[in-house]
Amino acid sequence: MIPIQKGCKDVLPAQSYAWQTLESLARRTAKKYGFREIRTPMFEATELFARGVGDTSDIVTKEMYTFNDKGGRSVTLRPEGTAGVARAFVENGLQGDVLPFKAYYIISAFRYERPQAGRLREFHQFGAELYGAESPAADAEVIALASNFLKSAKIKASLRLNSIGCAACREKYVAALREYFKPHLPEMCRDCNVRFEKNPLRMLDCKEEACARLRDGAPRITDYLCDDCRAHFEGVKEYLDGAGIAYTVDPRIVRGLDYYSRTVFEFVSDALGAQSAVLAGGRYDTLLEKMDSKPTPAVGFAAGLERLLMLRGESTPPPHITCYIAGMDAASRKKAFLLAEELRAAGVPCEADLMERSLKAQMRYADKLRAKYAIVLGERELAEEEADVKNMKTSAAERVNLRKLAQYFKGRKA
Ligand code: ATP
Ligand code: MG
Repeated sequence: MIPIQKGCKDVLPAQSYAWQTLESLARRTAKKYGFREIRTPMFEATELFARGVGDTSDIVTKEMYTFNDKGGRSVTLRPEGTAGVARAFVENGLQGDVLPFKAYYIISAFRYERPQAGRLREFHQFGAELYGAESPAADAEVIALASNFLKSAKIKASLRLNSIGCAACREKYVAALREYFKPHLPEMCRDCNVRFEKNPLRMLDCKEEACARLRDGAPRITDYLCDDCRAHFEGVKEYLDGAGIAYTVDPRIVRGLDYYSRTVFEFVSDALGAQSAVLAGGRYDTLLEKMDSKPTPAVGFAAGLERLLMLRGESTPPPHITCYIAGMDAASRKKAFLLAEELRAAGVPCEADLMERSLKAQMRYADKLRAKYAIVLGERELAEEEADVKNMKTSAAERVNLRKLAQYFKGRKA
């Protein structure tokens, strides 16, 4: 047997119900906020992510699945969803369309990471993007969408909020950060030494223990915000307060992607150990420009579906089928097949025997499927064109005309 690739997971039929439930909660919540689905390719030109996600991010420096295709082009399996959406927005001229542009996606994403609980190489994200609105109301709406989605999924996670300002406030802040980190460089990891030169903000997001320890004493970005960024951040907080969405301001949050500006946020759960962020996002007002769009403000988030499913735990799916139709002999089996087709045409999920099993074995199978009802067909049932419809839970049975079965099951579906 050739085993599955490291860091990948099968979703077996027994598990797909949990996925579908979570995905439909995501779709329903997105729809309430006027977001429609966007689907973009699973791979893009490598350059798109280098430019979009940022070439000092962990994703681009270490985690991308990049290869040359047969035409010698460098392509990359998407490590996240935003860059592709931004490309599609620009390439399809949607800047000239109705704004704000609101779109959501449910995708698989690929990162070459060390697999562990809550960290896979192929994983799934529900994400939402809102382009064209600079108002703090847009940040608040995206956060409200995220918060309501988590609430609908009964996931307890707390919201951490920060503002990392714009390029202007960051210039002063980065200078202060360099001053703070400089004497500590020898004790910090090699990556952080590189980050010190290229993008010191990244040093606040380092997962190495020695580096993370230094984070608490570092200067806080919130002390360096320019007037506009400060007012914007206050605006976001005001909207959230008004909407009754609880948050904690955490000046250490910078997020792992290079494109953020102003608002950044994470929903975290204590129940997940080290991989505690279940949903993360923020504002990225400069990303679309980098994609050769006219300047367009943007805000969005992405949630890791595997982590959310871990938090939701096991759930019992409803029965697969409404009705199982057993046949005692060859003629009844044939009739069972035809009846099943009729019921399916009427929208009733059902099954008939395909294994040529004994009646006892057929009923055991029906039990395993947790069919709500079972019908046994034999010589008598075929002659009378009537059969007992047995409720598998209560064992109560009702005699029903075989031609009226579809009607009988209306309103009795599993
Ligand atoms: P982390 O700090 O956990 O590495 P990140 O900063 O890389 O997260 P984002 O790129 O913002 O995360 O992705 C958003 C969400 O996607 C995360 O909060 C998480 O729930 C999920 N996620 C990210 N990487 C993985 C992965 N390798 N496996 C499973 N889920 C992931
Ligand atoms: Mg990561």
